[in-house]
Amino acid sequence: MSTLLLRHAYLLVTMDDHRREIPDGGFFITDGFIDQVGKSEDLPEYADEILDLHDHIVLPGLINTHHHFYQTLTRVVPAAQNANLFNWLKTLYPIWAGMTPEDIRISTKTALAELALSGCTAASDHLYIFPNGSRLDDEIEAASEVGLRLHASRGSMSLGESKGGLPPDRVVEDETHILNDSQRLIEAYHDPNPGAMVQVVLAPCSPFSVTPDLMRQSAALAREYGVRLHTHLAETHDEELFCLEKFGHRPVAYMELLNWLGEDVWFAHSVFVKKEEIGVFAQTGSGVAHCPTSNMRLASGIAPIVEMLQAGVKVGLGVDGSASNDGSSLLEEVRQTMLVSRAREGLRGASLSAENSHPLMTARQAVEIATRGSASVLGRRDLGSIEPGKCADFLAINLNRLDYAGGLHDPLAAVVFCAPVRADYTVVGGEFVVKEGELLTLDLPALITEHNLRAKQLVERI
Ligand SMILES: [Zn+2]
Repeated sequence: MSTLLLRHAYLLVTMDDHRREIPDGGFFITDGFIDQVGKSEDLPEYADEILDLHDHIVLPGLINTHHHFYQTLTRVVPAAQNANLFNWLKTLYPIWAGMTPEDIRISTKTALAELALSGCTAASDHLYIFPNGSRLDDEIEAASEVGLRLHASRGSMSLGESKGGLPPDRVVEDETHILNDSQRLIEAYHDPNPGAMVQVVLAPCSPFSVTPDLMRQSAALAREYGVRLHTHLAETHDEELFCLEKFGHRPVAYMELLNWLGEDVWFAHSVFVKKEEIGVFAQTGSGVAHCPTSNMRLASGIAPIVEMLQAGVKVGLGVDGSASNDGSSLLEEVRQTMLVSRAREGLRGASLSAENSHPLMTARQAVEIATRGSASVLGRRDLGSIEPGKCADFLAINLNRLDYAGGLHDPLAAVVFCAPVRADYTVVGGEFVVKEGELLTLDLPALITEHNLRAKQLVERI
């Protein structure tokens, strides 16, 4: 049995059912799970390791619900800098087609390093292109070296250009192979238990890159094994037109037709959803991964998150792939969530009377989306808050810093309103991934050098 005592936090933000914020708070951890939470004076005095966090704010670990780690190799590619989604994809597909298994490994470590330094403790990744012998195993093995929890989504593309899809035929896969590989991965890696470090998700990529048949068969396979389903949905106006033209339905109605709604499903983006479609998400328990930076970067639009929360939709946060963000800072994404929802409210307000406008999203609501919200989207009852029985996943930030100077009237709000910073501690299941601002699990300078070399080779290969 190993124990860790965290105490004397300037402020402990629990995000528990009462949203307790405890000055001079702390908690006691046994074998990776939280045993006791409270004022420091009420906690045990001894543990195998004791961490005094004077001057620090402590929060539940942030949870990322949508990413494409491999895209760290193709950030700010000049030809894709100023394009909307479909043109951006058409520019990048041929570059991504050159990736190797080692590229998948390196990019996984880079993205997870960035996430860890931004206070992220669990991440879902959506890998949907497997060129030159690449496998989801490459990502899962590389992630195990970093130490964050991983929800590895076995993505897929099967609807190539010749069949009316968007991706070139050479990057799509055979559907029988996709399903066999999905089953193999679930059996090899999926852990349904509390405290799981790896879960597997089935994730056909998007309406414009997979067939209806693959969507149906993936859903049947996922439900046979009790794993979750994920895809991109209602991201852009172009996608909405594609769905209407090719399938005769708007994106959400198309999902209904495919049996792709439910507690076990979450969608990335959902920018183009109407009020009644938000109601469908709420009724069916389908979740949404909100990715505001990517939606702005690709000029996709602004998702109606406040409306979704009011309707009772499960909403989590995602940084999305690094070719459309172009960073993996989850703390920055929390800030963007609050700010862009306010921008949307301003735009709505211009056409609405005051009584029809929504209250502005608060800093606490934005943090809640990235913690409790993301945990519910991923179906993780063991994550998302600091309370007895939950995994000991948390981040701590030293408040005594330039970025927050003059902003300590409300330290939790300072974390969201002020410029995004790096976490001083990121801890997963009681294990330190970041300690005193240093990433412990990787040699960052060597990783960056190799990553840049591989990124250069990849982009120059075409
Ligand atoms: Zn995405």
